[in-house]
Amino acid sequence: MKELRKFDKVVNLAKTRGFIFPSSDIYGGLNSIYDYGPLGTELKNNLKKAWFDFMLARRDVVGLDSAILMHPQIWKASGHLDGFSDPLVDCKKCKSRFRADHLLEKKGIKPTFGKDNTPNMSDVKCPECGGELTEVRQFNLMFKTFMGPLEDSANQIYLRPETAQGIYVNFLNVLNSLRLKIPFGIAQIGKAFRNEITPGNFIFRMREFEQMEMQYFVHPDKTKDAFEKWQNLRMDWYKSLGIDPKNLRFREHAKDELAHYAKKALDIEYNFAFSENETFKELEGIHHRGDWDLSQHQKYSQQKLTVKDENNKEYIPNVIETSGGVDRATLAFLMEAYTEIDGGRTTTTESSKEKEVVLKLDKRLAPIKIAIFPLSKKTDLMAKAIEIYDSLATKYRLTYDETGSIGKRYRRQDEIGTPYCVTVDFDTLGNNLVTVRDRDTMKQDHINISELAAYFQEKFK
Ligand code: ATP
Repeated sequence: MKELRKFDKVVNLAKTRGFIFPSSDIYGGLNSIYDYGPLGTELKNNLKKAWFDFMLARRDVVGLDSAILMHPQIWKASGHLDGFSDPLVDCKKCKSRFRADHLLEKKGIKPTFGKDNTPNMSDVKCPECGGELTEVRQFNLMFKTFMGPLEDSANQIYLRPETAQGIYVNFLNVLNSLRLKIPFGIAQIGKAFRNEITPGNFIFRMREFEQMEMQYFVHPDKTKDAFEKWQNLRMDWYKSLGIDPKNLRFREHAKDELAHYAKKALDIEYNFAFSENETFKELEGIHHRGDWDLSQHQKYSQQKLTVKDENNKEYIPNVIETSGGVDRATLAFLMEAYTEIDGGRTTTTESSKEKEVVLKLDKRLAPIKIAIFPLSKKTDLMAKAIEIYDSLATKYRLTYDETGSIGKRYRRQDEIGTPYCVTVDFDTLGNNLVTVRDRDTMKQDHINISELAAYFQEKFK
């Protein structure tokens, strides 16, 4: 039997161990929408906290949480209503639908689609059945809905396709309420929605997803330094949480790939290894957006969005954006952490020789920090274990497990990335010592219960 790819194994583990489920699963799922299970929720929350803490640790970055539904004019001003579309073709025979640019890229042709520019697709056939393809059509990716009881065009609004616009339209509010001076950044995490034509690769490309974005407002003369600073900081963040530098790289966009308003764009790519041909893919974008966004909102809202420089000269700040996907980062950290050990590493007889899976997540990201085990289901051992659980539960996310051999219980925790397991045995009742086992080194420490809190404080600092 062909060995599964690492990606498939991660998808499988994510479902069977409670990280990520297909949405509406009992109804057969909903294409490219996913739900985060109990462990996935913890992992994603830890990741978002790590991002926010990292971004707000800079003295000049503040947070925001803007609404998903916004004034429809915003999408006119931002260019999304006219330009946020993908080129689409259908197969006339088997009716499969494709992104025209993806098909051309696979043939080694660099596509440039624009309002007045539709590349020749006549040589391209359906990759599924070889059938003829339709003409290219532009397909707007924004989800529409209606506000209020009347479903007419006057009441049409959109689910935001990015969180960034919520930041631009709050620029003045944040500037004035906190009396900030340029340069400063506004960071926010939130849901975004795109009616992607070809979603897929699990949570890599979904139709409902989460973004973590920061817009850094800066004087036009200072954009080069700000861009370099943020590109390096963002790259360092992924490395600091455990991604091997060899699986990360920058990819700068060529001039003809840039959005018309963008001055420079660069992706941080991760080696997702979806297939032999699909290795490094975008994880996060760093963009120099010039003064496009604020200028457009100034024009459409008729509100002045300028600031003054030291010579009292008014200008519209430029923007350096860092735009990452929470779900893509979750997938990257899961892929990176997934480790198989052939032949196993436990020495207990029943688990030896089998393949072991260890999810080597950074401790800060691990969904469960500590597992508590009574050695057996004896009442006094269980009572002691529960007492320890309760004493640590307000500080750490814990789990309690009393079933199966200790070896099996260790392996269950290794598979979900729990950094430490605490075992209460018969000796504990006499000497108050518990065994703390480390996920990665498998080293065991004997710690007095009275010192456990201090021990973990040190481990999780
Ligand atoms: P792609 O080229 O992969 O479609 P993009 O360049 O359109 O991505 P941006 O608009 O720059 O992406 O969005 C910023 C980030 O949001 C991306 O780097 C990615 O991490 C995340 N993202 C974008 N679209 C999706 C999606 N459909 N599903 C999950 N994450 C997404």
